[in-house]
Amino acid sequence: MITRTDLEAISRLDHPEGHLLSLYLPLFKDKSDTDYNIELKNLLRSANQRFQHESGNELPDAFSELFEDIRVYIRDNAGKYGRGIALFASPDDGIVETRSTPDIIESSAIVDARPNLAPLIRLVEDFDPYCICIISRDQARILTGYLDHLDEHSQLEDDEVPGQHDQGGWSQARFERHIEDHVHRHFKRVAEKLFQMLENKEYTHLILAGPEEVVSGFESTLHQYVQDRVIGHVRLLMEANINDVRDNARDVLADYIRKRKLTLIEQVESESKANDLGVHGLTETLEALQRGQVQSLVVDSDVRSSGIVCKECGAMSVAPGEGNTCVFCQSDEIRDMDNIIPGLITTAFQQGSAISVIDNDEQKEHLGRLGGIGAILRFRVEQQSA
Ligand SMILES: [Zn+2]
Repeated sequence: MITRTDLEAISRLDHPEGHLLSLYLPLFKDKSDTDYNIELKNLLRSANQRFQHESGNELPDAFSELFEDIRVYIRDNAGKYGRGIALFASPDDGIVETRSTPDIIESSAIVDARPNLAPLIRLVEDFDPYCICIISRDQARILTGYLDHLDEHSQLEDDEVPGQHDQGGWSQARFERHIEDHVHRHFKRVAEKLFQMLENKEYTHLILAGPEEVVSGFESTLHQYVQDRVIGHVRLLMEANINDVRDNARDVLADYIRKRKLTLIEQVESESKANDLGVHGLTETLEALQRGQVQSLVVDSDVRSSGIVCKECGAMSVAPGEGNTCVFCQSDEIRDMDNIIPGLITTAFQQGSAISVIDNDEQKEHLGRLGGIGAILRFRVEQQSA
């Protein structure tokens, strides 16, 4: 699992001459060394074109050797990385960081002074570890998941719950109370387990499953912190197979993420139109970012824009200021960029902003009316830009 802390470490990598390679490559079991060889050659070519376009220079020859080293590394180590690899390297330092990634990340290679973290940031922001608890009056199954993985975590059972034959000389009312005590103790035990797991950061979101009346009774015994983590309820049998559990969990998570993003877009819209704690459009978002104002960035997954980055202060803008200088520090040490969006996302991440990439068609259209990008601000700057 990739965490925010991992990304913070990678985000500190930089290369003063702009020769840091960020490579993303999906890995498949049936892909051969020849396949990787071809794919890496294509990626090197596209990285070179982009670099040339942005800096006016060809990539140094040492990159061909670096890509050859990477080919050998992948040939020998692909098995360790599961479905995909993120790799950061430079000709001077070789391979400096690698991470295993899920296969939803597309292949890309970018050479820049800073790492391209946008695909990983998106992953960390959208997908949190979750827990699903299937509950009945005398049993519980707890499973934990992240992306495509789902594992049985624990099973709890109240094996002393009395059956009808145990009623003996007890009155019906007393016997029922006795059973209710058992059920309550069982719920408490499961609730305690879920609380400990939350404390150990084993999950962020909780999904409850089981018959409705049992689930609602159980939910009320949960610690408030745990209750706050509940994002949905599903009907599942105790013996449900893991694929059914995963499919149900995935639907609940997708729905939760979709709603969270919609709320954010609506918030950007109302706050920015009221000139309050929000901005929309690329120019205003970049300015807010430069002032460290961005609390939450919302960006269309397909939005691209050329622009410039200042080698002096690191600021990005859509166009240079007068005399081809940085609009923020007036330095003339600026570099053209084919696409400033990945850098913008990384900068926002480094400032501790939350980041939501929008890929739902309806939401893209909504955000498109706001320029495809916007932000919720931490604080307001009185002077509004023109
Ligand atoms: Zn500058």
